[in-house]
Amino acid sequence: MKIAILSRNPELYSTHRLVVAAKERGHEVRVIDPLLCYMTIATQRPTIHYKGEELVDYNAIIPRIGASITFYGTAVVRQFEMMGVYSVNESVAISRSRDKLRSLQLLARKGIGLPVTGFAHSTKYTNDLISLAGGAPLVIKLLEGTQGVGVVLAETGKAAESVIEAFRGLKENILVQEFIKEAQGADLRCLVIGDKVVAAMKRQSKEGEFRSNLHRGGSATVARLTPSERATAVRAAKIMGLNVAGVDLLRSNHGPVVMEVNSSPGLEGIETATEKDVAGMIIQFVEKQARPGNTRTRGKG
Ligand code: ADP
Repeated sequence: MKIAILSRNPELYSTHRLVVAAKERGHEVRVIDPLLCYMTIATQRPTIHYKGEELVDYNAIIPRIGASITFYGTAVVRQFEMMGVYSVNESVAISRSRDKLRSLQLLARKGIGLPVTGFAHSTKYTNDLISLAGGAPLVIKLLEGTQGVGVVLAETGKAAESVIEAFRGLKENILVQEFIKEAQGADLRCLVIGDKVVAAMKRQSKEGEFRSNLHRGGSATVARLTPSERATAVRAAKIMGLNVAGVDLLRSNHGPVVMEVNSSPGLEGIETATEKDVAGMIIQFVEKQARPGNTRTRGKG
């Protein structure tokens, strides 16, 4: 097969691993920087061009679209879809999962366990918002944060009030969330491919920190999931419409709750912790699924 990996940087661990895995399985593979693609939008024959050349005859694409380039990146994915090229994650699913509020609303509607969550933009009714989320201790998050930046634990009502008021000054959208204390600073990253969790790791925060992000000094080990954790992760990915997803769960005393569903999950942490060839499994999935026009988005936008 001829596979394109849409990624800004071929040297990133995940991109590199996908290239190696595709080559190992006998495919022709190329890394394409989505920001360097330019396209024609025509009724008859949409095309994509890259460095002076038209991209033709691709059987499949694997989008690895970073959050900062979601808009243009998903437009490129959509263009491939319009050309009938199979995308392992569809453009609409990527856009959907990038919008945290929309994601939580969709997951809630389908009955997926979530931390009790309030959200607001600029309400002055801070105490009402705090009590809607169940009162302190609370986790307060900036909607646009990544890698744990902009995620604050407020242990008392007073602290919550100050943090919400400070965030309001930034004119940002915020989430006010039940603190899942019983998770004890750990979360679960479940790597879903199709209808299976193929690898799972537990990330444990360092002493004195509640955020388990590896960038914040957390450590990762292989996780054994319960059947209900597996089912929750697979359902969450399915609801978002993602074939490949990293689903982050917390172990709460009301069952597994979903924090986030990621459409371009990093492979380094999970492959290292679990010693599994996740990149190879993604390529195998593509082999099974990629048929011309097998993208449900086609024509729907
Ligand atoms: P980011 O997307 O920036 O990584 P997250 O929402 O995943 O932010 O939060 C970072 C970390 O903080 C999580 O990995 C988790 O360990 C911890 N955390 C987030 N929300 C909660 C919560 N409601 N209860 C307990 N811990 C939480």
